[in-house]
Amino acid sequence: MNYDIEKDISEILDRLEKDNISFNNQTVLVTGGAGFLGSWVCDVLVRQGAYCICLDNFASGKFENIEHLRDFANFRFINHDISKPIYFGFSNHPEGICIGDIKKLDIIMHMASRASPFEFRQYPIPILKSNTLGTMNALGIAKAHNALFFYTSTSEVYGNPPEEAVPTPETYFGNVNPVGPRSCYDESKRAGEAFIKAYELQHNMRAKIVRIFNTSGPRIRYGAEFGRVIPNFIHQALNDLDITVFGDGSQTRSFTYVIDEIEGFFKIVDRDEALGEVINLGNNKEYTILELAEIILELTGSNSEIIFKPLPIDDPERRCPDLKKAKQLLDWEPQTPLKEGLKKTIEWFKDLEKNE
Ligand code: UDP
Repeated sequence: MNYDIEKDISEILDRLEKDNISFNNQTVLVTGGAGFLGSWVCDVLVRQGAYCICLDNFASGKFENIEHLRDFANFRFINHDISKPIYFGFSNHPEGICIGDIKKLDIIMHMASRASPFEFRQYPIPILKSNTLGTMNALGIAKAHNALFFYTSTSEVYGNPPEEAVPTPETYFGNVNPVGPRSCYDESKRAGEAFIKAYELQHNMRAKIVRIFNTSGPRIRYGAEFGRVIPNFIHQALNDLDITVFGDGSQTRSFTYVIDEIEGFFKIVDRDEALGEVINLGNNKEYTILELAEIILELTGSNSEIIFKPLPIDDPERRCPDLKKAKQLLDWEPQTPLKEGLKKTIEWFKDLEKNE
């Protein structure tokens, strides 16, 4: 084995301990807990002594991401699609599934959603449902339990920002095509944020929103049909396949390594200063997609060639967060340089492809 995930999990735990952040004895529901980021969240929670309830329907989550967590007595898995009602504690709602033995939830981390642009074409309706009905259902659970609500929103709420709005602050309202190929995701995530604001107003709910920028690392979804740019390029490079750059590769993204992002999530959940806030978490070092392809070629020592394919419609030209708010409220900054995160992701990929 080349990559040791336990080291990265320990690094997150150490950082949280230094900041006196602990979820020991808290009961936390994680929707989308078998997904890329959700499973890292579950890994941290169980090791911190929280009672972690992972809810997922494996639409894009994976059993392999959480299989090992069955060994922990404080981990529980519920196979359910959050866009359908579910109740914790007792309820006589005719359409709801009721999990009667779970009495009090302290925190809901609502993370369930497919996030790959490839899936926007294949699954637009489930995506719309999980981000709207799913968010409403998750908020209903939080309301019933008077639980803290944490929502993973996205940089996609900004759409394709103009030059003057890059790096993009939380105050930028967005430039989103409501009827384009990405709208099922972008608009439903925006609606999710509006749901949260409505529940805060009408029910005095305690809620926090993170807008996630491109995040990568071990457990990221891979495969030709669903791949994001980093897993695609790594898979292509390791197998000496052509590296498929969309457009001329001048569009930019800024990539956060997973452990920085997860640390940021827990800082938001923990800090009172984040109540009612929406906060960007990402990396503000921008790379063009062509630069990314060249870095991955260098790190893998691959003989692959770069080829150019058509740019998908509405593919944002630049994406880079303004991180002032995260720094000011949470004292959070990304710590892992792109190459360091990529090296670990490449090692994880090598393990994965060896076992397939
Ligand atoms: N991209 C690419 N080749 C691929 C996959 C993606 O050039 O095989 C580009 C894509 O067009 C976009 C960027 O890489 O400009 C990031 O794509 P990703 O799928 O990771 O998600 P996005 O950031 O667009 O949500």
